[in-house]
Amino acid sequence: MSFDITPTAAQHDLARRTHEFAEQVIRPVAADYDQRQEFPWPVLEEAAERGFYSPLFYRDLIGDPTGLSLPMFMEELFWGCAGIGLAVVMPALALSAIGQAASPEQMLQWAPECFGTPGDLKLAALAISEPEGGSDVRNLRTTARRDGSGPDADWIIDGHKMWIGNGGIANVHVVNAVVDQELGHKGQALFIVPGGTPGLDMVRKLDKMGCRASHTAELKLTGVRVPAGNLLGGQEKLEYKLARAREAVEGARHSGSATLGTFEQTRPMVAAQALGIARAALEYVTEYANRREAFGAPIIDNQGIAFPLADLATGLDAARLLTWRASWMAATGVPFERGEGSMSKLAASELAVRTTERAIQTMGGWGYVKDHPVEKWYRDAKLYTIFEGTSEIQRIVISNALGAADGKPPLHVDLEPTGGPLNRMFGRGTPARTQVGNTALSMKDRVPAPVMQMAMKVLRPPRK
Ligand SMILES: Cc1cc2nc3c(=O)[nH]c(=O)nc-3n(C[C@H](O)[C@H](O)[C@H](O)COP(=O)(O)OP(=O)(O)OC[C@H]3O[C@@H](n4cnc5c(N)ncnc54)[C@H](O)[C@@H]3O)c2cc1C
Repeated sequence: MSFDITPTAAQHDLARRTHEFAEQVIRPVAADYDQRQEFPWPVLEEAAERGFYSPLFYRDLIGDPTGLSLPMFMEELFWGCAGIGLAVVMPALALSAIGQAASPEQMLQWAPECFGTPGDLKLAALAISEPEGGSDVRNLRTTARRDGSGPDADWIIDGHKMWIGNGGIANVHVVNAVVDQELGHKGQALFIVPGGTPGLDMVRKLDKMGCRASHTAELKLTGVRVPAGNLLGGQEKLEYKLARAREAVEGARHSGSATLGTFEQTRPMVAAQALGIARAALEYVTEYANRREAFGAPIIDNQGIAFPLADLATGLDAARLLTWRASWMAATGVPFERGEGSMSKLAASELAVRTTERAIQTMGGWGYVKDHPVEKWYRDAKLYTIFEGTSEIQRIVISNALGAADGKPPLHVDLEPTGGPLNRMFGRGTPARTQVGNTALSMKDRVPAPVMQMAMKVLRPPRK
């Protein structure tokens, strides 16, 4: 499967239907939910009715071998509103973690609990970050210990989680906890903690700068008891993982990339969300700059206004290409050896901040007040250089990969080529092709023109 940005009819239709949903359902209520910082239940219901809120939907998005469905959906949804968008997609983050760790039986049991059904919606949360450890996942202090030694012994979880989307209101919390202190971040495991489990408490809902329609909370886990079956992947797999980690513990101490790399797969998804915010701001402000007059002419006639917008339009397309490439790599199993997932997240999130800031500047005073949505987009965009790995962490992943690559060629040189031996033998610039071409051209005065044209058609270079 080669990287191709031509959408299929189904992808095109998905993007169009998502855009309609964003325009007709999300945009009209976005400012209100932002101001009230309320969870947008009616919008989630509508999303579920339209087929955008179910485990099957995400299985289909992730299962698209071209990789394009997922970022196309995210960009359109977040074009509507990032806060509401986060509320809609939050269970997908939890589902993705379950998918990476769970047994097939656990997946079947918990995936429906993450979403529910229209009229009876459910929520899911992914609880990794802690007050002392956001970027530094080695510093996580939440612990899980067995209460007994038998294979059916319960787990007891104690700890403190911070910044958790849907935390405390979710039906399913996927909680990361340390099961072996000695092994640091390699000694962690994921557990399902159902909402309402005794000892799981929401300390507070956080009062955020942006993305305010999404619910983000601080959680405490005090003696939270879950059955053995809630350890994702099961005991046997955990013991195998811990044994391997013990063998490799020296190596692990010298490398941070394994843990950071775990997040690489979900980063293009988050990058596409940032693209949605950036595109919304760029479209809005370009239209404004065409309409708004100063000194007798539209302000876009000034290069001081137009050129930054041209730079942002270029940056937007560049970031989208990085995002689609990373998403295609995730879908086709090409390893992220150069930090390609991080590149997409870094480029898209920083572009979103630059674009929304420029949108405010372009609108002058009108950009600074809530009469227009750009100040909200600016607040929303800022989250994207912070969560799912800060910009600094993305740069660490990319520079580590750069160091590890040690002169490795770029991805396109490294990928397994498509096409057979004929393709290689008669490809552009090959001696065989040059020789045949020169021979044909040397006969051009002796051969009738139609025959020559036919010969040139036959001598076309390979299509790929
Ligand atoms: C609104 C919101 C929603 C979130 N949702 C979730 C969620 O659902 N689930 C979840 O688990 N987490 C979530 N997070 C947590 C988020 O992933 C963390 O905030 C993020 O990883 C940063 O961690 P921190 O806040 O502890 O900052 P720190 O790790 O303390 O970083 C502080 C600063 O130091 C920099 N820094 C740290 N280490 C280095 C280094 N080695 N080199 C250079 N600079 C460095 C950082 O880049 C940052 O600028 C959310 C956060 C927010 C704000």
